[in-house]
Formats: sequence, C-alpha cells, structure tokens
Amino acid sequence: MPINLSGEMKRVRIESVREIARNVYVLEYKRFFEFEAGQIIPVALTPDEPPRLYSIASGEKEENIQVLFNVVSQGQLTPALSELKEGDYIWSSAGFGKFTGTSGKACWIAQGTGVAPFSSMFRSGQREDKILIHGGRYADSFYYSDEFEPVLKEKYIRCCSREIVPGTFQGRVTDYLNTVEELSGDSLYYLCGSSEMVVETRDLLIKKGVPFRKIVGEIYF
Ligand SMILES: Cc1cc2nc3c(=O)[nH]c(=O)nc-3n(C[C@H](O)[C@H](O)[C@H](O)COP(=O)(O)OP(=O)(O)OC[C@H]3O[C@@H](n4cnc5c(N)ncnc54)[C@H](O)[C@@H]3O)c2cc1C
Repeated sequence: MPINLSGEMKRVRIESVREIARNVYVLEYKRFFEFEAGQIIPVALTPDEPPRLYSIASGEKEENIQVLFNVVSQGQLTPALSELKEGDYIWSSAGFGKFTGTSGKACWIAQGTGVAPFSSMFRSGQREDKILIHGGRYADSFYYSDEFEPVLKEKYIRCCSREIVPGTFQGRVTDYLNTVEELSGDSLYYLCGSSEMVVETRDLLIKKGVPFRKIVGEIYF
C-alpha cells in the first residue's frame, strides 16, 4: 500500500471506543494505509467540519489504528468522540507528518496523551537505546505502562505531578530533568505534549547543554 499524503478524508467504521482511565479513551478502526510511527491523522464526525489532529498510537503493522485521546470538557469533538460505539463512523485520512522515530539513540519525553507517538514507535519495534520519560497527573495517567515497563525497565520514568505514587518520580518531567546531572549529547530528544510543556522542556534541555538541532517537538495544544 502506498503512503497517501494527500489527506483525502474517508468514512471509517469504528471498531471500538473504550475508556482506559478517567476521561481518557482509545478509539480503534481498521487500518487502511501504511504509515511511519509518530505520524498523525485527522479525525472529524462529518466531512464538512474542520478535523482535529491525533497521533497514531498503534504500531505500523497492527491491524487496527489506535487513537489515544482525552475528553476536553466543552471541546467540539472529544465529548462526542467518547460516546461513539462499534459500527459508528468517523471521517479520517491516511497518516502524515514528520515527527517520526529513529532506530538510533532517543529520549522520548511525553506529557499525558502525548505518549501516543512513542507508543507507536515502541510498538513498531523501536526499543533499543530508548528512554521514555512520561509526565502525568495521577496514578492512572501512565497509559500503556503495562507494555513499556517490562521492556524499558529503568529507562521508563513516570513523573506524577498530583499524587504520590510508589515507583514514580513526584513532580513534572521538567522537575525530573532538573535532577539529572548529565544528559547524553549523542541522543535525539523528542518532546510531545502541550505547548507549555514542550517549550519549557526544550529550554531546559538547551540550558543543560543539549544542542538545539537534537531536539524535535510535537505540540498538541
Ligand atoms: C499534531 C497534533 C497531534 C495531536 N494528537 C493528539 C492525541 O494524540 N491525543 C489527544 O488527546 N489530542 C491530540 N491533539 C489535540 C487534538 O487535536 C484536539 O485539539 C483535542 O482533542 C481537543 O479537541 P476538541 O474538539 O474536543 O476541543 P476544541 O473545541 O478544539 O478545544 C477546546 C480547547 O481545549 C484545548 N485543548 C486541546 N487539546 C487539549 C487537550 N488534549 N487537553 C486539554 N485541553 C486541550 C484547546 O487549546 C482549546 O482551547 C493533537 C493536536 C495536534 C496539533
């Protein structure tokens, strides 16, 4: 199947929508295109409304496309998206975007649902020389931890900002990075989350000596 970057929207049948944590859902539909881990897709309920963008959370070879999303109260799309059932339809297109993974050394830094592109990279086999630092508010914010933990082990660092949870760092990802004395200069740094998180983390990495060209970011909102 060729990679379709035309962005042509297509009616897509939902396989499932399930809540995996408070207000956080995984939506699935049958994959109909090839993509590179880290890419995004548009999602809309009708062909006329402006779509919202979502990272693909599933692996490149998986049968289904998975989207991990949190419900934004008063949001135009996500409250309705969370109500969808098997057999309902959305509009979407093939994946696109340049926030794609590497087989080399990388440090993945995510906030909340920003872990989705890293889940796709991980599930696509990018596991060697990877560190995942995931920031979340509560104990149940570490989506897909059952997959990451046994493989990444001590290279999977959870930073919990609003609860004290055994086995996690207490604070935000930036608090954690502040405790790290030396950051690897030959690694790429991938940042994904809100604009505040991405900008704050980027500035901190630069202050700690990471060259700007080694940092790539994907901003969600
Ligand atoms: C490149 C890219 C990839 C994205 N990937 C994902 C993803 O994988 N999962 C995901 O959940 N979201 C992702 N988003 C955000 C997503 O596109 C929507 O903005 C979000 O789901 C809200 O849509 P909505 O229509 O419900 O709310 P809207 O009506 O569009 O927005 C209402 C308000 O909520 C704010 N907002 C937007 N997203 C969030 C959020 N996640 N949490 C809190 N407030 C928010 C907006 O700034 C706005 O002020 C991505 C955005 C971009 C640009």
